[in-house]
Amino acid sequence: MEMKFTAKLSDKYYLSENRRFLLLKFELVEPNEIKFEAGQYLSIKISERGERRSYSIASTPDNTHGFSLLAEIVKGGLGSNYLLNLNPGEVVEVIGPLGKFVVNEKSDQATSNVNNKLFVATGSGIVPIWSMINDLLINKKTLVPIRLHWGMKREEDLFWVDNLERLSEAHPNFVYDIVLSRASDNWELCTGHVQDCLMRDFPNGELNNWEGYVCGSKEIVLDICAKLEELKMKKEDIYHEKFT
Ligand SMILES: Cc1cc2nc3c(=O)[nH]c(=O)nc-3n(C[C@H](O)[C@H](O)[C@H](O)COP(=O)(O)OP(=O)(O)OC[C@H]3O[C@@H](n4cnc5c(N)ncnc54)[C@H](O)[C@@H]3O)c2cc1C
Repeated sequence: MEMKFTAKLSDKYYLSENRRFLLLKFELVEPNEIKFEAGQYLSIKISERGERRSYSIASTPDNTHGFSLLAEIVKGGLGSNYLLNLNPGEVVEVIGPLGKFVVNEKSDQATSNVNNKLFVATGSGIVPIWSMINDLLINKKTLVPIRLHWGMKREEDLFWVDNLERLSEAHPNFVYDIVLSRASDNWELCTGHVQDCLMRDFPNGELNNWEGYVCGSKEIVLDICAKLEELKMKKEDIYHEKFT
């Protein structure tokens, strides 16, 4: 159920060398417990005039006494500046949990193959998907095949790659691909748009047994959803969240 919370910033640090992605950890003050589903977001008050911005919860639901957010720092952005200037110990006001971009639990049985899960993220759209995948693999011990395609621009934007590698080593049912649209010549993996990589990985359009979870900026999300349908994923099996 959606509620108003106050929370204290306990830590913050950049995830990428180019200082584009900032991770912020909060401890709840009042009320001091939150129940949410992986994939949901919070609306954070960023000014006394009452302006707000939405940020997906990066942490997993087993952490009920706090949460993490990941902000892509947009130059001159109101939310970006607010979070950049926030110091440890300072208190924020959030409303949440919000949103319906969550894993379809009804089909989450290890025996059926209709529940193969394909996650497609671009940029900071990885945040809710990160929470979902960690929750599925670590907390729910899901054995169904899980694939992630994550589109970013350049090598220097990347973060969480070591964590993804560890997750895939510990969980053979999890496979991830990072796709760079502006890769340097040294990048040996997928390049172009995530849509191109999907075409490469599923050339025969065999996604009719997969559910899709797509998150990123509005235009890209719509494009990816159309591509998934082209690859035979059923429209009703595609869930998405647009960062506007
Ligand atoms: C449900 C939901 C969940 C979200 N979760 C996250 C999240 O987990 N992490 C996250 O970083 N954001 C997330 N967003 C987006 C976030 O709410 C802000 O819109 C975004 O961070 C920019 O906010 P800002 O106040 O810093 O910039 P604004 O003051 O809103 O914008 C400043 C300028 O920057 C431009 N701009 C905005 N975003 C971008 C961008 N990505 N690239 C280039 N230019 C841009 C705007 O058009 C504007 O000109 C989410 C949005 C939604 C709707």
